[in-house]
Amino acid sequence: MTDFTMEKDADGVAIITWDTEGKSMNVMNQQGFIDLDALIDDALSDDAVKGIVITSGKEGSFAGGMDLNIIAKMKESAGDNPAQGLMDGLMQTHAVLRKIERGGMDERNKGGKPIAAALPGTALGIGFEIPLACHRIFAADNPKAKIGLPEIMVGIFPGMGGTTRLVRKMGAMAASPFLLEGKLRDPKKAKQAGLIDEVVPADELLERAREWVLSEPDIVKPWDEKGYKMPGGAPYHPTGFMTFVGASAMVNGKTQGAFPAAKALLSAVYEGALVPFDTALKIEARWFTNILMNPSSSAMIRSLFINKEALEKGANRPDAPDQRVKKIGVIGAGMMGAGIALVSAMAGMEVVLIDQKQEAADRGKSYTADYMDKGIKRGKATEQKKAETLDRITATTVYSALAGADLVIEAVFEDAGVKAEVTKEVLQHVGDDCIFATNTSTLPITELAKASDNPEQFIGIHFFSPVEKMMLVEIIKGRETGPRAVAKALDYVRQIRKTPIVVNDARFFYCNRCIIPYLNEGMRMVAEGVAPALIDNAARQLGFPVGPLQLVDETSIELGAKIARATKAAMGDDYADADVDEVIFWMEGEGRLGRKAGKGFFEYDEKGKRLGYWDGLSAKYPLAKEQPDLATVQHRLMFVQALEAVRALEEGVLEDIREGDVGAILAWGFAPWTGGPFSWLDMLGAPYAAERCDALAEAFGPRFATPALLREMAQKGQGFYARFGQEPAAA
Ligand code: NAD
Repeated sequence: MTDFTMEKDADGVAIITWDTEGKSMNVMNQQGFIDLDALIDDALSDDAVKGIVITSGKEGSFAGGMDLNIIAKMKESAGDNPAQGLMDGLMQTHAVLRKIERGGMDERNKGGKPIAAALPGTALGIGFEIPLACHRIFAADNPKAKIGLPEIMVGIFPGMGGTTRLVRKMGAMAASPFLLEGKLRDPKKAKQAGLIDEVVPADELLERAREWVLSEPDIVKPWDEKGYKMPGGAPYHPTGFMTFVGASAMVNGKTQGAFPAAKALLSAVYEGALVPFDTALKIEARWFTNILMNPSSSAMIRSLFINKEALEKGANRPDAPDQRVKKIGVIGAGMMGAGIALVSAMAGMEVVLIDQKQEAADRGKSYTADYMDKGIKRGKATEQKKAETLDRITATTVYSALAGADLVIEAVFEDAGVKAEVTKEVLQHVGDDCIFATNTSTLPITELAKASDNPEQFIGIHFFSPVEKMMLVEIIKGRETGPRAVAKALDYVRQIRKTPIVVNDARFFYCNRCIIPYLNEGMRMVAEGVAPALIDNAARQLGFPVGPLQLVDETSIELGAKIARATKAAMGDDYADADVDEVIFWMEGEGRLGRKAGKGFFEYDEKGKRLGYWDGLSAKYPLAKEQPDLATVQHRLMFVQALEAVRALEEGVLEDIREGDVGAILAWGFAPWTGGPFSWLDMLGAPYAAERCDALAEAFGPRFATPALLREMAQKGQGFYARFGQEPAAA
């Protein structure tokens, strides 16, 4: 069955309806373009047809975008010359959209047929690039709909004409948030911004579009008129010059040059602005091909789109009946508990939020009120929504309020004794089926589970701070955790619309296990006399949101020192971070406790703004005369994390490399352009990665020693995704 069908009515309007079979939202595939092209040819050549309306058969949406899997297929099917294959494919797409845009006009812009897009709702990616080629865009007044071009978020850019058309339509400056940041708008805001032309009541959508195509409108696009001038000016116009110079500086400042797609997008915009429209499309296609050929884009699409979605849909969910949560208990209304209560109440659950004192519980609940107030100010929430959400939260000190809860998450102090007491207390008030979860970040789940008579119903659900912003949730199975507890945790994470990974219990689980070495490597370098700015900037130029020293300041030296002491006590002679401790304990002794204290590796002003690195640091650790080169610093920071990820796989903490990659990007911002640590090692190739590790181990110590798994893969010439890719598998 074809995804596109056409009906011609008695007034001469051809209605083309897009309806991808078996999907809740339309997605474009290769056949879709062929079918759409054929229908457009038919309508344009039929004298009885006066105009065309393109719409969707899905309620509340036009299209979710391109099926990104087909990009991989396009490359594979192009044989020896994948770049040519991609370029040819893109130019064919451009021809279809250009045909829509020209509407059958001759060279003098005469004789065409108007084509309107009628969007019942969400229109993303190619689902907005097609409307951009039409002559007028109507959208139903559907506040939940999202309109825009989010491609940049997965490491590509709008390459089906969206870049060239949006810049020609709005000007480079106005288009930049939509192209460079992938900002989406609801229909009303999309109209205000100039993305679409009309917002109409949903039940009038088709009729209004029909009336418009029958009204003999002018359909020549501004860029097809003689004397067209780009809004805001092309690059050599005085104001355009300012825009382009500013945009280039902004993009390079924000991305540190670490995201190839942002640079390519900017080149396509700049070069395209200097030439006629059809040449600009060709330039866009060339840059898009360049990006699709870059291993970074495939890795980002794989991790941030395909695998992220697979994990969200329960790729690693055990077979168990629906475990959706109705009533949740949250114990501890501090920073984490307050956030967990917020996201749970927003997802419609009944929440009981418990703390030791009523004031503490109330304070925890007021976090939701403050959050909703901010949402109301920004037009994202309403008073009614706020009242409903708050109504779902009972803040109390009374444990009997937990009766009937099917999931309880504790987020009390990080103390095994306190947690055990709380666990026992909770279990006296809930039913036998209730799953108990701990949000601990450092204590072993298997040990904490001993406080329960039902360890198979005990699990780790590890959130990151701030809960409402951080999209990853790390689910940790204790030795005895059963499948229903895992299913419960996964169903809960799905309800709160976050991305889960499921790992096994081991020191620091997966995420903190990899983040801590990153922070430690930064501090080791400080002790060696490497310039602090070199350390943090090397990380930022790799695409990390913050460098290791800045991150230590953010998370606090106090916490670092506490973790270091506890780890040392637990590991005894195996502890290998004494040189890091020297820096941490000295900083702690100097009262440099981090950003909250107003002093750490950085100096801060009263408002908490970073001023620069603290002078005392170089007095204690003088800068080495010879500074390492950037690549060495960067390799140390990358390998120290990636090798920890490999060890986590070797040891069975990670069971699925997809989780290792997706988790790394979402939890701590591991250089997103790589697609995650395993994707990065695959880009390097196991033989080269092992060679670099050998050299780093020789120069800097055994923490860089090549893990046996990587050594074996180097010898066999294997990649992680080739070996572990399709099916979840342990090492
Ligand atoms: P917090 O100090 O802000 O909050 C802890 C709350 O628990 C306090 O309100 C306290 O009054 C309450 N509490 C203590 N004992 C209690 C008891 N017996 N009964 C009821 N309430 C009790 O701490 P936080 O930062 O929210 O961390 C809580 C947990 O989450 C810890 O296990 C921590 O390791 C973990 N965690 C924290 C972060 C983070 O970034 N802060 C991230 C992930 C996990």
